[in-house]
Amino acid sequence: MSDTADVVVIGGGVVGSACAYFLSKAGLHVHLIERDYFASGTSRASHGGLALMHNTPLELRLGLASLQLWENLSKELPFDIEYEVPGQLTVAMTEDELPAVYHQVEAMQAEGIECHFLDRQALLDFEPNVSPEAFGASFSPLEAAVQAIYVAPAMAEVARRGGATLDCGAIVLRIDREQDGRVSGVMTSRGFISTRFVVNAAGLYSPQIGAMVGLRIPVIPRKGHVIVTEALPYRLYRHKIQEAGLHKTHGSAFGAVTDRRQFGCAVTSEQKREGNIIMGATREFVGFDKTTRIDVVATLAARAKRLVPKLANVRVLRVWAGLRPHTPDHLPIIGPVQEVGGFFVATGHEGLGTTLAPITGKLITECVLGQQTSLSLEPLLLSRFPSDNLPDQFMEVVNEMSSPPVPTVG
Ligand SMILES: Cc1cc2nc3c(=O)[nH]c(=O)nc-3n(C[C@H](O)[C@H](O)[C@H](O)COP(=O)(O)OP(=O)(O)OC[C@H]3O[C@@H](n4cnc5c(N)ncnc54)[C@H](O)[C@@H]3O)c2cc1C
Repeated sequence: MSDTADVVVIGGGVVGSACAYFLSKAGLHVHLIERDYFASGTSRASHGGLALMHNTPLELRLGLASLQLWENLSKELPFDIEYEVPGQLTVAMTEDELPAVYHQVEAMQAEGIECHFLDRQALLDFEPNVSPEAFGASFSPLEAAVQAIYVAPAMAEVARRGGATLDCGAIVLRIDREQDGRVSGVMTSRGFISTRFVVNAAGLYSPQIGAMVGLRIPVIPRKGHVIVTEALPYRLYRHKIQEAGLHKTHGSAFGAVTDRRQFGCAVTSEQKREGNIIMGATREFVGFDKTTRIDVVATLAARAKRLVPKLANVRVLRVWAGLRPHTPDHLPIIGPVQEVGGFFVATGHEGLGTTLAPITGKLITECVLGQQTSLSLEPLLLSRFPSDNLPDQFMEVVNEMSSPPVPTVG
């Protein structure tokens, strides 16, 4: 098979599908390649929170821009993605977590985002099943949620209706370049696609795709466990509830993240429309291991119960673990690469890929069209990581990924 496309997007996760969605809407002919099925990678492991992280103003601006896009997407996507806007409580369970909550309120208000503080009594009036031992919380009404596994297929379907070719079961094996270094085509297990633009949205495998054009992309797996309970016939709580500890440590949950023997844990929990309660997540660096561990699940459940004691009476339905694409500075890598004309990177979204997929797709589309981007890409470019000076942890994975993928699917 030989084909041509304006843009080849590699990866049918939430990020690649969002890129395909926006590129296709802009009138470009997109060829979206996914080696398995849509959302088969990290995207299916997400618990679907559309969250505003406030560690840096940049994170907040990206999150806010994406939440605004989500509002329209939720009306336009052809499947029900269970979009809801429950708002989020960030709860201080210890006195020393209160400063993190105050900081969140200040940081969000400084960006003009609604967020206010609730003391213990106000919190209990607002969400009566939160632990009476909580010290207080912030409430941010904009925070939303979706059913993550539906999102990538829904966005890919809109792209298909706009003329995109959806190529599931094809593996990218090689990227060809002109003499001046510009991309000229993509070889897959199904054949060659001639193109002048390639978007690398391969998530955890983006270092492997980067290596095909001589780039070192620092993305490593950061594991997370999620628990889902049985559906309750009543509302145990109405808002998303999160432990303040998650924010206190930059999504790193109590600092135990670089030690391979330990794991970090801070709970974000939400009751879905059908009544099930979803709670995540843990954070650990254990390579590409996705197995679930009983001690980790037990810790996550215990922390959730500390936040909402009535969870003690709720039965667990299932648990899973997934691998977040983690970068050295926790921020995604979005934008063009100077050394390789026509090559764009959209990866490394860590625990925020579901949230940030729409703004990523929009920014990549603006870049491909040569337009001024709606947010400055400078702090998100790959060039912020000098390729000869990556942390050892990242170097190991980048080196391992330098050999091409094996075409087992055809
Ligand atoms: C436990 C957990 C909970 C999370 N919760 C949230 C949350 O509440 N909110 C939030 O915003 N984010 C959350 N996330 C993060 C979010 O899931 C990720 O950031 C996001 O899914 C990354 O999407 P992606 O498209 O970059 O990667 P992926 O979904 O992994 O997609 C990459 C795709 O590329 C394909 N691919 C790779 N190599 C090739 C090749 N050679 N040829 C063809 N295809 C290839 C893969 O098959 C894969 O499908 C969570 C993550 C985890 C693990």
